[in-house]
Amino acid sequence: MTAAARRQKDPPVNSLLAPDEPAPFEVVNDAAAGPWVLTCDHAANLVPRRLGKLGVTDADLARHIGWDIGAAAVTRGLAAALNAWAILQNYSRLVIDCNRPPGVPSSIPIRSERTDIQGNIGLPPADAEQRRIEIFAPYHDAIAAHLDARKAAKRPTFLVTMHSFTPVYENNARSMHAGVLYNREKRLAHALLRLLRAEPDLVIGDNEPYSVDDHSDYGINVHGEHRGLPCVEMEIRQDLIADAAGQRVWIDRLARLLPAAAEQAGL
Ligand SMILES: [Zn+2]
Repeated sequence: MTAAARRQKDPPVNSLLAPDEPAPFEVVNDAAAGPWVLTCDHAANLVPRRLGKLGVTDADLARHIGWDIGAAAVTRGLAAALNAWAILQNYSRLVIDCNRPPGVPSSIPIRSERTDIQGNIGLPPADAEQRRIEIFAPYHDAIAAHLDARKAAKRPTFLVTMHSFTPVYENNARSMHAGVLYNREKRLAHALLRLLRAEPDLVIGDNEPYSVDDHSDYGINVHGEHRGLPCVEMEIRQDLIADAAGQRVWIDRLARLLPAAAEQAGL
């Protein structure tokens, strides 16, 4: 084995992820033929062993501050239903948030809602950079490579970023069931918003409970708008997709409405 090959095989001694730990991301349906690309930035809540759970409890990591509850299952189901390529981040947003530009304060939060994230307080810049290199960059590089390949093959592409939100945030109960989020690129979002609002008994937010901008988000801006792709960020309330039955409802609903939205938008 050459030295270069050996370097590739053996991770650096000081790498964040140990050889037996999961890769930073998982691709689902790599050979999918459909036009949809799904990303799930907050799919899971793992923390690299070397970071000692960031000083928070397992219960905290299992709450909404650690990940987007239910979002991974809906993304997987939707990938199957739409014959879509999908990618899921394996590590907690508390390690490094894959939907924030690296370097902004919320990228590696020192506090999330009411919980101090001890392992992020006073973090040396080199450690933040290592998280970017080992967790954030491989995930986004994989998305970029996939989108580059689709462009080269002249394949139609519609990007959906999948998220979920907590029903209660800082003591405020949220009555909306889901939100359609967008920034400058509105074609798909506006059509989807109309269709979701036409469903019975649903309260759907228009850029609520969050809005999208260049500092609060990353995926829609970088992978969608900068490439000129139709794109939308989907937020579903977590209690609605916490179990398999609720997940099924939203998988079926979005599998029906996303293609209809693309058609209505003339895409
Ligand atoms: Zn999210």
